[in-house]
Amino acid sequence: MKVLSKKNLTGVIIIVLCVGIAGFGSIEFTSQWEEDAVYAGPGVTEIKNLSDYFADLKGTAGDTKVYVLEGEEPGGTVFVLGGAHPNEPAGMLATVLLIENIQVSKGKVIVIPFGNASAYTHTEPQEAYSREFAIETIEGEERTFRFGSRYTNPIHQWPDPDIFVHSSGQTLSGVETRNLNRAFPGNPDGYLTKKIAYGIMELIRKEEADVSIDIHEASPEYHIVNAMVAHQDATSLAAETSMELQMENIRISVESSPERLRGLSHREWGDFSDTKAILFETANPSQGLFRGRGGSDLVLSGKDDFYLRAAEMDLLYVPYDEEGKPIEWRVNRHLRSLEMVVEVFSRNNPGREIQFKNIPSGERLVNEGIGAFLLSGE
Ligand SMILES: [Zn+2]
Repeated sequence: MKVLSKKNLTGVIIIVLCVGIAGFGSIEFTSQWEEDAVYAGPGVTEIKNLSDYFADLKGTAGDTKVYVLEGEEPGGTVFVLGGAHPNEPAGMLATVLLIENIQVSKGKVIVIPFGNASAYTHTEPQEAYSREFAIETIEGEERTFRFGSRYTNPIHQWPDPDIFVHSSGQTLSGVETRNLNRAFPGNPDGYLTKKIAYGIMELIRKEEADVSIDIHEASPEYHIVNAMVAHQDATSLAAETSMELQMENIRISVESSPERLRGLSHREWGDFSDTKAILFETANPSQGLFRGRGGSDLVLSGKDDFYLRAAEMDLLYVPYDEEGKPIEWRVNRHLRSLEMVVEVFSRNNPGREIQFKNIPSGERLVNEGIGAFLLSGE
């Protein structure tokens, strides 16, 4: 009996080869789902997952680690989100420095460094972004961090509709369906990005976070940069914080969250929970449209000749000179803002104070670099 003709045999061989190649490729993709290493510092009391707050995220590319730093004395709770947009590295790095350094004595600090874990698994097509950048610790370990995309990976959520319709009825271009900071307050039955947003909303509600901070960066040519965007319930907190920072020579303006711009953290976190929601922005040339050659150098130094020319032509919303916008400078602004928000909130809310120590100082960050505050593995 003839089992296989020569032609069929060739077909079978081709199929086996294709399955092999696809299998090999999927191993590579699976390895990309591992989050970058973050080492629990002395203040970390518990490591959870976002799926502990919304079980549907378990086993998906949207699940991510949640670090809890709780003091011995009871007090208030602050939630800090980094990495909602993985092409804005200063936010993620600021949260990593909190996890690896601070020690909480009163209240609770809850931190997510990689807000949109799926968006860390790819970079934006045709932008020639570097896939990662490295920072050396004082012990000489090279810590690498991914530079990801603004959007959820289409491998995890596809296809995009032509038009993205938010639950409020607001319409945006289809790609925004994969933008975590347009997906709030999320939807437990929605697609992945909506589920991540819902998980974060659930965390804020279940932990009864008094204050919630979403850390971003923006292109230097974008009009809201070097700013805090505050929900109306957090306006006075942000304004007082900005005044105090100004006395320390850190200028950060306060913008109020527009009521009709929907899906953003500073709008929906405040509308759908009791938290005081504020978003931080710094200027990041590596995500900007004017930049020249990208790469990890630009991510870290923020120095770019085209931005220098744009500044000379008065096209930017931030001062920009030969010094660029180094990552230490950007992370420092986020840490100083966070420190001050917590201080002002604690001062005005007796019984809900949050106190911690060992947050990296601006002077040491600028003089010694981020690596001085990153832990090394075993
Ligand atoms: Zn952003």
